[in-house]
Amino acid sequence: MVVGAGIAGVSAAFHLAVRQGVKDVVMVDPRPPLTLTSDKSTECYRNWWPNEPMVGLMNRSIDLLEEMAEESSDVFGLSKRGYLFVTSDAERLQTMVDEAHITSGFSAGPVRQHPGSVPYGDADDGVDILGPAELGEHFPYITDKAVGAVHVRRAGWFSAQQLGTWMVEQARDHGAELVSAEVVDIHVESEQIVDVSLSDGSSIATDTVIAAAGPLSAPLASLAGVELPLYSELHLKVAFRDHLGVIPKEAPMIIWSDPQRIDWSDEERAELGRMGRSDILGEMPIYCHGRPEGGAESPYFLALWQYHHEILEPTWPLHEDPLYPEVVMRGLTTMVPGLAPYLDGLPESIVDGGYYTKTRENRPLIGPCGPEGFHVVAGLSGFGVMVAAGAGDLVARHVTGRPLPDYADSFLLSRYDNPNYMAGVQAPEHSGQL
Ligand SMILES: Cc1cc2nc3c(=O)[nH]c(=O)nc-3n(C[C@H](O)[C@H](O)[C@H](O)COP(=O)(O)OP(=O)(O)OC[C@H]3O[C@@H](n4cnc5c(N)ncnc54)[C@H](O)[C@@H]3O)c2cc1C
Repeated sequence: MVVGAGIAGVSAAFHLAVRQGVKDVVMVDPRPPLTLTSDKSTECYRNWWPNEPMVGLMNRSIDLLEEMAEESSDVFGLSKRGYLFVTSDAERLQTMVDEAHITSGFSAGPVRQHPGSVPYGDADDGVDILGPAELGEHFPYITDKAVGAVHVRRAGWFSAQQLGTWMVEQARDHGAELVSAEVVDIHVESEQIVDVSLSDGSSIATDTVIAAAGPLSAPLASLAGVELPLYSELHLKVAFRDHLGVIPKEAPMIIWSDPQRIDWSDEERAELGRMGRSDILGEMPIYCHGRPEGGAESPYFLALWQYHHEILEPTWPLHEDPLYPEVVMRGLTTMVPGLAPYLDGLPESIVDGGYYTKTRENRPLIGPCGPEGFHVVAGLSGFGVMVAAGAGDLVARHVTGRPLPDYADSFLLSRYDNPNYMAGVQAPEHSGQL
């Protein structure tokens, strides 16, 4: 039984039913598939993470995405435009280059410096380091204050909704069932899962549960007596209707990698002060970012900037910041000055979002824990869409006893019992989160 039909649960069911031929897979969720968090994401992927297990898991996940794109005639539109990390600070650029060499050492692909022995152009993996001249030539819409950029190449975006829908259909074609109910209890006898009670009063006998409940994973696991060390942050995103066509449709994901201050007028400052909005008056964090959305005819681009780091108990509807579109547009204008006309009148926008439910070191929990038969795929933070294929594959291997990859142990809950584990983990600000 897979509990939760977000992208994590759907992928687990797909890997069990389709890839591993398990006959009696049941997905249980009171909501239609993919509708809580998995359809709110920016849908981007990258293999570029600051530690070896994450690079290993993401490389596997992207291999699987590429396979599924081939098998499905690319129903989910897998693009490979890359992530472009831009800076106006020469010292920061050097740090980014140093970090790129470290990440490259985790089998994330080579580092190509430009100008250099190979010209900048199409590339499948690794990174290209661009100086101001190459940046100006290839990305003329980026500010001329930028001194360089790191272009991550095994990266892009796709439709998570389309991928998830395709995986659900495939799983159903291979005998998996989808039950519309909430799991309200999990029964354990002699340290073994025996059955699960549903909100409609029925119960299903099973010896195997995969808990893939997104932001509700901790309360779900507690039904089996398992405590998951997870917390949730609210993350918003905004879709702008770019009627002036400022962000080119062929742009990569563009990411301003410097802190910045918003250039509010004196009047605006005074008003924001009266509103108690000191959070947007001082230095704002790095990583204001965005990307074009939709096909060639679509006028939209998506943008995100996590300037609040609030840890919240997940509740819905979300608490939205009414100033979010304005603040994000101002942040993006620092990187793309052509957006400035929108500061006099914001274009039409739609805000949504969800929770990044994560572990303290921002690595997921995938595999068995607690009573015999209980498994989790949780803590997928801001990378659930890109990791789902690899996570579904990994948890299905745990369930069916297939060979496990090298990185498997790094994602078990039991890693926290290893005193050497946390010592080797970077501080949260180096967790790779945008
Ligand atoms: C603004 C934003 C931008 C993002 N951008 C990206 C991105 O660019 N790339 C990326 O990879 N990721 C991104 N993410 C993260 C990604 O969206 C999530 O990590 C992912 O969707 C989590 O999937 P999930 O299946 O774990 O959870 P969910 O999609 O939340 O699904 C969990 C499901 O479990 C069900 N459930 C819960 N409790 C029970 C129960 N007791 N019984 C039955 N069912 C239950 C729920 O109804 C729900 O359907 C972003 C997230 C946000 C919010």
